Amino acid sequence: TAPPSLLSVRDLTVRYGQIEAVKGITLELREGEITTLVGANGAGKSTTLLALSGLLRQKTGQIRFAGEDISRLPPHQIVARGLVQVAEGRAILTTMSVRENLELGAYTRRDDEARIRQDFEQVLGLFPRLKERLDGFAGNLSGGEQQMLAIGRALMARPRLLLLDEPSMGLAPIIVQDIFRTLHQINQQGITIFLVEQNVRQALKLAHRGYVLENGLITLHGKADTLARDPRVLQAYLGG
Ligand code: ATP
Repeated sequence: TAPPSLLSVRDLTVRYGQIEAVKGITLELREGEITTLVGANGAGKSTTLLALSGLLRQKTGQIRFAGEDISRLPPHQIVARGLVQVAEGRAILTTMSVRENLELGAYTRRDDEARIRQDFEQVLGLFPRLKERLDGFAGNLSGGEQQMLAIGRALMARPRLLLLDEPSMGLAPIIVQDIFRTLHQINQQGITIFLVEQNVRQALKLAHRGYVLENGLITLHGKADTLARDPRVLQAYLGG
């Protein structure tokens, strides 16, 4: 039997002024799963994530998270409910330490210090490289380490659903492997993941389910292994 739905999106449209970037999409994320949203440049993937996070307000349709309509909530209230997006482009604070960047992730939490400390240790367990560099400037980290820090910071907000926008972008293949392995571990810890990727092959390997977005519309969806064998996916995204 399928796990229950954690996020359900109905007929979502998102506009930038006159331009409709997302044209009425419907999708379902199941609790405990990794779902990936793949598609070419400009398909509307980032726009979709920003709308879910409440950062783009020019939208219609319904977004339900854990049974509640969050379509009209401001970003901080969405984060407080456990829907957390990893900051885009490794938007870490380069002149602050790694430790301070992680602590900032817990900034909006109201639960006790002990729980936060426990999560801090858990994040360092996932990212040993960060542990070695805790008191150094975040700006001195490599690109891959900065991406890990961005993910770690999001985890400090105690997400129930983690959204990621192309965490593999600009990273060497071996680092990408590392990041994807860590996403698998994070998911094993019970966190539902929605992963936007242009790296279609690896994303479908990691995910349970996938959606293909083209020009603002969902054109295909299904189990990830089925999609990875679909001739249309092979042709368009996996080089035949
Ligand atoms: P990429 O991988 O390049 O980020 P994407 O699938 O995430 O692609 P979006 O960034 O969501 O695509 O863009 C979807 C469409 O919306 C594109 O046609 C893009 O040009 C347009 N768009 C994105 N941001 C803006 C903006 N701030 N103002 C106007 N149009 C925008």
